[in-house]
Amino acid sequence: MHTSDCIFCQIAQRKIPSEIAYEDDEVIAFKDNQPLAPVHLLVIPKRHLRSLNDVTSEQEPLIAHLFGVIRRLAGEFGVAESGYRVVTNTGTDGGQVVGHLHFHLLGGQALNATIG
Ligand code: C5P
Repeated sequence: MHTSDCIFCQIAQRKIPSEIAYEDDEVIAFKDNQPLAPVHLLVIPKRHLRSLNDVTSEQEPLIAHLFGVIRRLAGEFGVAESGYRVVTNTGTDGGQVVGHLHFHLLGGQALNATIG
């Protein structure tokens, strides 16, 4: 379930400290340690999935749950009304650096509209 050389698995197991914003049995959310916006959280499944490409139809309920967590966190961090962005970088061209599926929740300021 966990991969020992994965930094986000280690965060999920609390082996590496992070500012945790939410946790349940399946999902954990923590503050990005190099925030790009006033609100910048990473929301991840606890189980090690490398990217969106690893998600099977069996895991779609997990992803639906994860988006429920994102919506809840947007409310708790006060950006639900003003607006926010959810991003998942996938693979090399997508700019994915950490090989554990994660969703960036960005908000708290007007975000640049450009893609890429
Ligand atoms: O989507 P991508 O893989 O590029 O993003 C990884 C994110 O993980 C970065 O925003 C980086 O700041 C964050 N990170 C973190 N804590 C770590 C390692 C990376 O918040 N220990």
